[in-house]
Amino acid sequence: MADLPLQLQLINGEDVEALDGERFDVLDPSTGERIADVPRAKAADVDLAVAAARDAFETWRRVTPADRGRLLVAAAQHVRERSAELALIGALDTGLPLTSIERDVEATARYLEFYGGLADKIGGDVVPLGPEFLDYTEREPWGVCAVIVPYNSPFQVLARSMAPALAAGNTVVGKSAEQAPLGPLYLARALREAGIPRGVVNVITGLGTESGAALTAHADVDRITFTGSEATGRLVMEAATRNLTPVTLELGGKSPQIVFADADLELAAKTVAASLVWSAGQVCSAGTRLLVERSVRDGVVAAVVAEMSATKLGAAVDSPGMGPLISEQQRTSVLAAIDAASSDGARLLTGGSELPETGSGGFFVSPTVFDQVDPSSDLAQEEIFGPVLAVMDFETEEEALELANGTRFGLIAGLWTRDLAKAHRVARELRCGQVYVNTFGAGTGIELPFGGFKNSGIGREKGIAGYLEYSQIKNICVKVGTE
Ligand code: NAD
Repeated sequence: MADLPLQLQLINGEDVEALDGERFDVLDPSTGERIADVPRAKAADVDLAVAAARDAFETWRRVTPADRGRLLVAAAQHVRERSAELALIGALDTGLPLTSIERDVEATARYLEFYGGLADKIGGDVVPLGPEFLDYTEREPWGVCAVIVPYNSPFQVLARSMAPALAAGNTVVGKSAEQAPLGPLYLARALREAGIPRGVVNVITGLGTESGAALTAHADVDRITFTGSEATGRLVMEAATRNLTPVTLELGGKSPQIVFADADLELAAKTVAASLVWSAGQVCSAGTRLLVERSVRDGVVAAVVAEMSATKLGAAVDSPGMGPLISEQQRTSVLAAIDAASSDGARLLTGGSELPETGSGGFFVSPTVFDQVDPSSDLAQEEIFGPVLAVMDFETEEEALELANGTRFGLIAGLWTRDLAKAHRVARELRCGQVYVNTFGAGTGIELPFGGFKNSGIGREKGIAGYLEYSQIKNICVKVGTE
């Protein structure tokens, strides 16, 4: 592949280096090789980006909602036209299979289109106070929104926060993850080409502890949307506390796939395996715990193991069944979790700490399944962020729910049964933000409110609920009567 061009941040419509000229390397996770370097922004760069977004806000918030929407829909079209290039960059940047990144790019376009379409449709209310008053509410943008994204699916995660923020009249400073900074830079440029005015979208690079921390502590940021780990989410919230900046936190998960004996077991097993391997387990909503009814346990587990062990690993650009993890550091951490699971008495069925033969220097780990997992062990409780499935079994609906709800996370759940009443009953009792019945996902899911219960987060993204987070209500009360 041809050398990538010089990578620069986008601040106030301009391509810029970090002020001190420092840069850091970007590796292709499929090969371990350096493919680019990017600016290493610090607090002074963050100041520039926030100032640009602040200036642009005064104009952008006055653009009519219809015109803002039209621009976002045009941007969606532009993203689609550039999808081949964006997907290739995304695959190199993240190690996710090209086919997955293509879906990611399409989801990005859908976010722009969906929220562009909403820009002129959601208004305020009139509050009935009687003949003496006219009372109404308006939804106003917050101002400058910081959007901090993780390394997995950076296009899609940036777009799901940025698109509603822009549609509602805010301006944005996006910050990419250090492991996968290229996608957000390409997306920012695509938006500029599509006509989004200067300063309305700014994207900086840099380390979390430097540019990330500076952005979350910035007194002129009006709202923060952070997507990433639980541990960093705490730091973000602490920083936001100092300025009382509102936050949306989209954090980790340990999502269950609950399979009842009366389900379509073949479909359930295929979906459990496929939904874990497509991202090598590096997605917040990965179904990393298989909870299966004891009477069908052996058959379901055997089918999942067969699917997972047959998965072909390879370089992301070749669209394999599963790509690498993002970094050597992540591989070390996943292998340590695998070793700890074996020491804790879980039984390894496939995969494990032996590195797969891939013929490259990429950061691969084999799809791994453990059963006989102790529900209180780290394997059952902690987010590993790798292709590692923990199997537990249950006898009754109550036991299934106890296991499913028995972690500090509550992001999503999959539920497999043909019994309609049971499906609704169990869905209602699950302590998580989304439940899928006889599926695990629905298209790109743009329309569906998403977010965590418990330690999986605060606030909602996606759907109309996500849009409402990017404006605040003002109540206006006018005395019109004469008494
Ligand atoms: P991370 O928390 O390490 O990093 C996320 C982002 O935060 C990066 O841009 C990083 O540079 C930045 N950051 C790091 N330290 C910071 C600080 N002190 N202040 C401000 N920003 C800082 O997460 P990751 O390893 O990139 O991503 C994986 C995690 O993200 C997993 O826990 C996963 O579940 C979660 N995630 C959640 C969702 C969701 O929608 N709920 C989606 C994707 C990923």
